[in-house]
Amino acid sequence: MLLISSPRFQEHTPPPGHPERPERADVFDQVAAEWRDNGGRVVEPRPATRDELLRVHDAAHVRAIEEMNGRAARLDADTFTSPESVEIALLAAGAAVQAAEHALDTGETAFALVRPPGHHAERDRAMGFCLFNNVAVAAAAALARGRSRVAVVDIDVHHGNGTQWMFYSDPRVLYVSTHQFPFYPGTGAADETGAGAGEGFTFNLPLAAGATDSDYAIASAAVALRLEQYAPELLLISAGYDAHEDDPLASMRVTTGGYRAILASLRAVAARIGCPIAVVTEGGYDLDALRACLRATLEVLTEI
Ligand SMILES: [Zn+2]
Repeated sequence: MLLISSPRFQEHTPPPGHPERPERADVFDQVAAEWRDNGGRVVEPRPATRDELLRVHDAAHVRAIEEMNGRAARLDADTFTSPESVEIALLAAGAAVQAAEHALDTGETAFALVRPPGHHAERDRAMGFCLFNNVAVAAAAALARGRSRVAVVDIDVHHGNGTQWMFYSDPRVLYVSTHQFPFYPGTGAADETGAGAGEGFTFNLPLAAGATDSDYAIASAAVALRLEQYAPELLLISAGYDAHEDDPLASMRVTTGGYRAILASLRAVAARIGCPIAVVTEGGYDLDALRACLRATLEVLTEI
C-alpha cells in the first residue's frame, strides 16, 4: 500500500464554517504520520498536467479555474477558492493519477488522501466543493495507458454526478454509486444507466435516508456481482466517508465497522478478479469519523 498525501492540502481554505475545512487535512496528516511511523510509504503528490485535466474537463473550465489562482472566489453556492486553492486542486487531481498509475504499474494498492474532493465537478464547471474531478482524471489516465475496463465505485453518501456524466456514454468506464436518494445533487436515480455505447455501464444504487450497515451490505453484494461481470483492469474507489452515522451533512447510519465491511467486500472482489485498487478520498465531514474510517480503510486494504 502506497499513501499519497501532503500537508499542503491544508492550504485550500473555504470561508469559516464551511464543512470541507482545512482540519480535514490535519486528519490526513495524522493518519499519514501513523502510517509512516509503522514503516509504511508516503509520497508527496505532483500537480496534474493540463493534458490530464483536458481528458475529462473542457478547456474553458480548466482556464476558468486557472484564472482563480491567487484569488478568493465563490464558484457556486457552496464552492469556494482561496489564494492557494488552484495549486492544491491540481495536487489533488495529480495525486489521484499517481494512485492509479502506481496501482497499474505495481499491482499494489494506492491511496490518495486529498482535498478538495472531486466527484461533483463536471466537464464544464466546479460544483459541490469540487474544482476538478480527481477520480475521473485518474480513470482517464488509465484509459490513456490503454486500459479499456476501468471501474469507479463511489461510496460517498452523495451521488457523483460529475463522474457519472463524464463517462455516461463510455463503456470503458463502469460507474457504480451507492448514495442517499433523494439528496444532493439530485442525480443518481436507478434508471440512470448510461447512454449509447455506455448503456448498462452506469449502475446507481440509491438508498433511502437512514440506511444502515445491513442495507449497505445488501448493496455491496450487488456491487460485487456487477464488478465480477465487468472484470475491470483497475478498480478506483471514490472514498467518501459521509455516509457515517456521525456525519453532519447526511442522514445515513453506517458505522466505522460498516465502512470496514464495504471496503472488505470491494477488496475481496478485486482479489477474485485480480485487479489492482486505487482509492481517492471524497467527502467525510466529522473529523473523528473520518479519522476512524481512514484507519479502517488502510487496515482492510493491507490485510493479506
Ligand atoms: Zn459527499
